[in-house]
Amino acid sequence: MRKNFITKAICSFPVILIIGYFVPAIAVILALFRYVVYGKTHFYRTPIVLLVAGLLLLLPRGLELAMANFNFNLGIPYWSEIITHPLYPKFTDYGKFLAIFAIILLVVTYVLRNFIEGLSNKFSQLMNGYYQDRAKRDDEIEKEVKLESKIKEIEAEQKTPHAVKCPHCGKTNHITGTTGRCKACRSAIEYRAKK
Ligand SMILES: [Zn+2]
Repeated sequence: MRKNFITKAICSFPVILIIGYFVPAIAVILALFRYVVYGKTHFYRTPIVLLVAGLLLLLPRGLELAMANFNFNLGIPYWSEIITHPLYPKFTDYGKFLAIFAIILLVVTYVLRNFIEGLSNKFSQLMNGYYQDRAKRDDEIEKEVKLESKIKEIEAEQKTPHAVKCPHCGKTNHITGTTGRCKACRSAIEYRAKK
């Protein structure tokens, strides 16, 4: 959808602005549709461009009011023709509509965005906490497993008979554990693990 040229063209600003002049409701729908098409990247662009367009349409009216109130004339060519043109009030109305819609959109976007960001932050904090707890538990389990296997290793080591040569009579004895007695001369013998 994002890459679709026709979709992008339909909800482009020129199309929105021209259709909006005739059917404001469609412009509203298309402007909202931009959020679907562009997602996060155009969050504030849509309301800001619409606001600028609305203010530009209102600019002549603002100038007219300023010139009438403060008694000055900028000497803009065809000024009276622009101001008195039968279509001009319609443009002014359209400018007002665009500006109001853009401001509402801006506020709603801002509020929603912060709300959604707040939610997703909270969610990621929760998830982080969960993963940290799990990592800690996994660590503990791993330590326990290691300790157990070490114990088993030691036990197995103690049960395995080792060949030990008696230092007194030279007879080879097989003893389990580390100490024992020579079967021939009864003297104490000791097994030392080679490391
Ligand atoms: Zn011996």
